[in-house]
Amino acid sequence: MLEMIDFSLWYEEENHQLLALDHCSLSLQGGFITALVGESGSGKSTLAKSLMGCLPAHAKTQGKIKILGEDWLSLTPQARRERLGKEIAWVPQGGAENLNPLLSLETLLLEILPPQGAQERIKELLPLVGLAKRHLQLYSGEMSGGEAQRALLALALANDPKVVILDEPTGALDQSSRDFIAHALKRLRAQGKAILLITHDLELASTLSDETLILYMGQLLERLPSSKLFDESLHPYTIALARVFPRENRHKDIVKIKGEAPYRLLHRHDTLHTLHQHDHLEHLHLPDSGCLYAPRCTQALPECFTSSPPYQEQENRSWRCFYQGMQELLNLENITHHYGSFQALQGLSLRLLHGEIYSLVGASGSGKSTLAWIAAGVLKPTQGRRTPKEGLRIGMVYQNPLLALSPRLSILESLLEPLRLAKIPPKEAEDQAFELAKAAGLKADLHLLKRYPHELSLGTLQRACIARALANSPELLIADEPTSALDPSVQACVIKTLLELQVERGLSVLFITHHLALARKISDRIGLLHEGKLSYEGSVEECPLFLS
Ligand code: SF4
Repeated sequence: MLEMIDFSLWYEEENHQLLALDHCSLSLQGGFITALVGESGSGKSTLAKSLMGCLPAHAKTQGKIKILGEDWLSLTPQARRERLGKEIAWVPQGGAENLNPLLSLETLLLEILPPQGAQERIKELLPLVGLAKRHLQLYSGEMSGGEAQRALLALALANDPKVVILDEPTGALDQSSRDFIAHALKRLRAQGKAILLITHDLELASTLSDETLILYMGQLLERLPSSKLFDESLHPYTIALARVFPRENRHKDIVKIKGEAPYRLLHRHDTLHTLHQHDHLEHLHLPDSGCLYAPRCTQALPECFTSSPPYQEQENRSWRCFYQGMQELLNLENITHHYGSFQALQGLSLRLLHGEIYSLVGASGSGKSTLAWIAAGVLKPTQGRRTPKEGLRIGMVYQNPLLALSPRLSILESLLEPLRLAKIPPKEAEDQAFELAKAAGLKADLHLLKRYPHELSLGTLQRACIARALANSPELLIADEPTSALDPSVQACVIKTLLELQVERGLSVLFITHHLALARKISDRIGLLHEGKLSYEGSVEECPLFLS
């Protein structure tokens, strides 16, 4: 019913062009709900306004929008106005503020309905949107948030449009109003309407819609069946969005996506948009080419910053990335290890992916530390294969910081040691050592860093160990019981630091612990180790509550 074909939109501002939608294509079918998901500022509402043809004069477009086969943008404003509400209707973001406060709902409906049959149509509309006759006399100031949203829906549906666009219809509603709107949308879908649901609520998108589109800085990064949104998405951005979304059955504490959510319009140099004097907009400036998500992506490679990834297509889905899903950092296959006649690990396999926290949980003697050393490449397994990503950089944090740091070196010297080994010039190495200390939550103060391990608390020492583990800019951090020697309050601080580092540096973490409750709070996946074998591996949500 509606097609957007290779559509771009930019705003002319002074002598600049700010790109808001970048070659977007989508298609809305009758009897389907399509969800459009993205962070604030991604261009969702701009896309909705483009479909409605409600754009400011300084907006310029390229590409096509077809509604019921008609080229929508080449129609005159008058012709478009005549079709609005009948062919396509929009429920704008917000609630009562979109209603004229001086008119009752009945007057608003009568204003847009043809006089003949208006009362009959109002009677049909009220149950469809869950309003009663008494609501017709209400003014916007007298309505609750849920009632105002239903009133807006009634106004949008008044002239029986074929295509309905809803911009964050449940954003400010309580659960029961949200459920009602969801129910109403299902009924509209059953009536054959094409529905575009704009939302940042991934749960709503996954349960209500048929297909989901992911928009990021004006680019559509992924199109996938909504049922696959949480567990089978293939674009790193969709995977990151799903990980940070607070689902009801979710155990992991909420963390953010690496970097800042962009909230400004895209400002790019390319053949379409040549910029002139733009010094005052330099902070909006993106590189000429490359993946838009690269600065935040936990698996970005050098080519991601220089070449634009292609759209990959597969059955009923497409995504814009060089890869398919999160890639493997380390693969351990069929690992067995013996200490003399004692078998510590028995044919164990596990894969670590970019940007995830994998907790390996087990009791003392279950083989956790043996596996950590094999994963780090410092112990060769008796049998089995270890395959790291080419050039994989690994950092290690051990259980006892007093044993991990040399008693003869000050903290500063311990931090400088790996930097010197990497042949970093002395002045630069010292600056980096202070940066590492700061990143690990230590005061970057010479007085503290000149101290020796025996002069400091265990919590401070463990932070120093984390700082040292970051010296080679690791992609994988292996943390072997890093908090088991700490009291609960220091443990909480160290874990918080680790989680912040994981997000901001896009690290993968193999977190080894005997503490299942802690693992459930911080992990994306869990493996339970029992007598050298994995007794469970999978999501936190499905993980057994107790170690077997
Ligand atoms: S193209 Fe590269 S940077 Fe972009 S999402 Fe894919 S892996 Fe990440």
